[in-house]
Amino acid sequence: MSSVRVHETYRMLEKSFGPNQNRIKAILFDMDGVLIDARDWHYEALNLALSPFGLEIDQDAHLATFDGLPTRTKLEMLSKSRGLPRGLHRFVNTMKQKYTIDMVHQRCHPVFQHQYALSHLQAAGYKIAVCSNSVRQSLEQMMKRASLDRFLDLMLSNEDVTKPKPDPEIYTSAMNRFGLAPGECLIVEDNENGIRAARASGGHVHVVSSPGDVTYERIMTAIENCVSAP
Ligand SMILES: [Mg+2]
Repeated sequence: MSSVRVHETYRMLEKSFGPNQNRIKAILFDMDGVLIDARDWHYEALNLALSPFGLEIDQDAHLATFDGLPTRTKLEMLSKSRGLPRGLHRFVNTMKQKYTIDMVHQRCHPVFQHQYALSHLQAAGYKIAVCSNSVRQSLEQMMKRASLDRFLDLMLSNEDVTKPKPDPEIYTSAMNRFGLAPGECLIVEDNENGIRAARASGGHVHVVSSPGDVTYERIMTAIENCVSAP
């Protein structure tokens, strides 16, 4: 089927069922690796902040162990495994956030397929949230630079919860703020820590492997699959 036909089919489905009759009423997006391709930025920014102290994380270890965790969790892991003095956490964390923001300003740009997806989901009546383990400043800056902030009903950062992912609190909190049950929410996640949080919240989970996978058509298919699930 051509992409135009697929699009027409979804438009008809939207008209036929619409969010009011649809089990899914909100889409909760993870940010890094889903809406923003920022995994390398976090990796590079953390290593820049650690470099004055002779510490470095290799990329494989970052992807396998650290990806998707808040910086404060990563630093605690480095204190346990590599002897990073805990007295340096605050300084390293501050520098890491500064380097991250520098990279956001240099590298974060609007991506058409994401603007298209979120604008059409919004027009179809779905509530849209971003739930990220990032600090609030990074979250707000990235959404603004990507021109996605205008489509969001809610942004939750790791500063809005007591326990970051893999704990489900951030997703449970978004559901509560929308006044929705877990079964009415579709969560879009990309990595192990995020998927654990999403599954533990009880919401429907759509796993993507990169921001390139996040398209309007794929999200609508995921919503349709939730509706047709027993
Ligand atoms: Mg992620």
